[in-house]
Amino acid sequence: MEKINIGILGATGIIGQNYIKLLQDHPWFQITDLAASLQSAGKSFIEAVKHKWQMSIPIPEELKNLIVRDVKDFDSIPENVSFVFSAINMPSKEQVKEVELRYAKNEIPVVSNNSAHRMTSDVPMIIGEINHSHVNVIPIQKKNREFNKGFIVVKPNCTVQSYLTPIYALEKAGYKIEKLIITTLNALSGAGYPGVASLDIIDNIIPYVGDGEEEKTEIEPHKILGKIGDNGIINNDSIKISVTSTRVPIVDGHTACVSVKFRDQIPSKDEIIRIWNEFKSLPQELDLPFAPKQPIIFLENIDRPQPRKDRDNDKGMAISVGRLRKDSIFDYKFIGLSHNTIRGAAGGAILNAELLKSQGFIS
Ligand code: NAP
Repeated sequence: MEKINIGILGATGIIGQNYIKLLQDHPWFQITDLAASLQSAGKSFIEAVKHKWQMSIPIPEELKNLIVRDVKDFDSIPENVSFVFSAINMPSKEQVKEVELRYAKNEIPVVSNNSAHRMTSDVPMIIGEINHSHVNVIPIQKKNREFNKGFIVVKPNCTVQSYLTPIYALEKAGYKIEKLIITTLNALSGAGYPGVASLDIIDNIIPYVGDGEEEKTEIEPHKILGKIGDNGIINNDSIKISVTSTRVPIVDGHTACVSVKFRDQIPSKDEIIRIWNEFKSLPQELDLPFAPKQPIIFLENIDRPQPRKDRDNDKGMAISVGRLRKDSIFDYKFIGLSHNTIRGAAGGAILNAELLKSQGFIS
């Protein structure tokens, strides 16, 4: 099969680099365009990332001498690029919104990691195993904005993955949830490169993650669990969510400590574990290249999940859960873990792009 040419906006950052690593040898997509800020534009990629290549692999040979484009040079994108992954970070969300809209208007679909469009009602925010049907908002978005081939799809905040899929699996099995109290332990790579200063984080925990992290982690699930209306997604806020986010000295892997209160029926512990272990969805049915075989892996050992040992489960795409036990105030509590730069960012977005291709939205 001839591969689809794709571009990466923000290719020099942590998530951009993760795309480059993860898309090596991808069966459907190949990178032919790299873009970043004016600081990198006009340089070869190897020169642009000279002091900041963070991946455990060498820069792929075919990308080393590719000249990095200015993200805002909209007309310079090669004609053969079918869609772009957006991993840009700009001083304001309004700037990111504008850039992503310009690409979509130029008929280049955008699959984004940025939060700028996450709560835009006609932009679907997708976790493939939960709300894959939200791709059907794309025709509404195209109509609203007079796009022909272009559109924007986003994925949620990197922390949401660590707990929402296990929660959704329980709801799908008929056990409705009333409220959640969550404390997250966010990895350093979540802050991009160079991120948090070493003297701030070594031997320390910072009880604050900026950029509206707690608000995003509380609100985004309402859209993901929402339904499609005439003009976009109608949010579903039936689950009340309270989040405390902290930054911990871990390189990769966001952990979430979750307390759950059910609405009426309370499942047994064995039933919850059975539901999690058996949970599968459309990405698994379609056998998409980046779909984990088992999206939720329940770990029996009392001291798991641990970021260093469990974040790479199933190529970093599975959610590892453990420590399921009764809660003395709510009904149950558990700990969820997902790889923030893979499942929570580049890998999750690649899975979304595979879903879009399999549903005929990109070709
Ligand atoms: P990062 O390491 O800081 O990289 C930012 C990228 O954006 C770089 O390629 C940078 O290019 C480019 N950029 C910066 N200012 C720009 C400007 N004014 N105009 C155009 N491009 C500009 O950030 P990151 O961690 O990769 O995050 C990228 C996006 O993914 C962010 O929106 C972030 O919120 C989101 N995200 C991150 C994670 C995570 O775990 N890290 C998870 C989910 C979502 P230069 O190198 O040329 O400056």
